[in-house]
Amino acid sequence: MKNIIERGEAALLHTYNRYQIVLDKGNGVYLYDKNGKEYLDFVSGIAVFALGYHYKDYDDALKAQIDKLMHTSNYYYNEPAVNAAEKIKEISGMDRVFFTNSGAEAVEGAIKAARKYAFNKDGKCDHEIIAMNHSFHGRTMGALSVTGNTKYREAFRPMIGNVEFAEMNDIDSVKALINDKTCAIMFETVQGEGGIYPATVEFMQEVRKICDEKDILLILDEIQCGMGRTGSYFAWQQYGVKPDIMTCAKALGGGVPVGAFVMTQKVADNSLVAGDHGTTYGGNPFACAAVCKMIDLFEENNIIDHVNKITPYFEKKLDELVEKYDYITLRRGKGLMQGLVCKGPVSDIIAKAHEKGLILINAGSDIIRFVPSLIIEEEHIDKMIAILEEIFEN
Ligand SMILES: *Cc1c(COP(=O)(O)O)cnc(C)c1O
Repeated sequence: MKNIIERGEAALLHTYNRYQIVLDKGNGVYLYDKNGKEYLDFVSGIAVFALGYHYKDYDDALKAQIDKLMHTSNYYYNEPAVNAAEKIKEISGMDRVFFTNSGAEAVEGAIKAARKYAFNKDGKCDHEIIAMNHSFHGRTMGALSVTGNTKYREAFRPMIGNVEFAEMNDIDSVKALINDKTCAIMFETVQGEGGIYPATVEFMQEVRKICDEKDILLILDEIQCGMGRTGSYFAWQQYGVKPDIMTCAKALGGGVPVGAFVMTQKVADNSLVAGDHGTTYGGNPFACAAVCKMIDLFEENNIIDHVNKITPYFEKKLDELVEKYDYITLRRGKGLMQGLVCKGPVSDIIAKAHEKGLILINAGSDIIRFVPSLIIEEEHIDKMIAILEEIFEN
């Protein structure tokens, strides 16, 4: 492994402080490094491998698509893209899908659609977006511009401009920023990187009401919290609202890079038209075959029911840790997207977990984040908890 790590340090741009592990293989909820060491995985490639590693039907579907056609460009139709879009419409109740290659690109598209929608109304080019402090929407310039974390933004200013930041779950902070130029209010239904922070129902419904009254678009970022993770296909489905635009990625392709921004007919009819937006790879038959198979497997195997069944056990076990150890102050999250908020840094805890064969990740410096694959069972939770207890006992 040492050799690969050294070569990686010499060849890859150092934009990550990587852990000293070279991952080689996966199977179910387990990963294996180059030395054959086994790790129980509670990160799933940051909420990507929703069905774990090497789900046979999924692998077979991808192999079959490789043998047929992987790429076409968007000047032609391909059946997997049409099927995938129809399936997303069905599970979301929304109307139009644009496929991207990543989450950040989905966010870019959502921003463009919102600006165009407002431009079509008044012909002006001064529209504002309200985003949230502690949000995370990706690393491209547009996505960074709506990311409420100065650490990520500082060196790269100027941002795209006309973005204001409110406080998540503080409706007055949103109201204070609204004016005639506001074209969109945007946030993650459950903030991920910012600390596993779910929107409250009241906040969500209040924002929806304001958006309806003023014809402002509600953009919900479901890139991390979507695709069944919180106990419904999309987390907003538990809030009694529907966004005008939502962004998806991460688990959407279950490991194949694919994202999407999805909108209602109203937005589609009044925003992006032919020539306004495009992508070479987005919506290629290979990525879309992955999306189709993911959604089919979710249905056939009642994955969301499983999430709802296992969540109370997961929460109970995490709550027991909160009770037991002073260093942990509280648990926060929804479904299989949980965080343990600690009194200080968690980097040592995560390093020790790796030593003991458990893959964990942080969200901010003080929060242990749990975003396992959605197929975990009680035995995996028990094993994970036992390792954490060993760490906290010492
Ligand atoms: C990961 C993430 C993104 C960015 O997705 P990329 O595929 O890394 O560009 C955007 N929003 C949220 C909520 C995310 O968790």
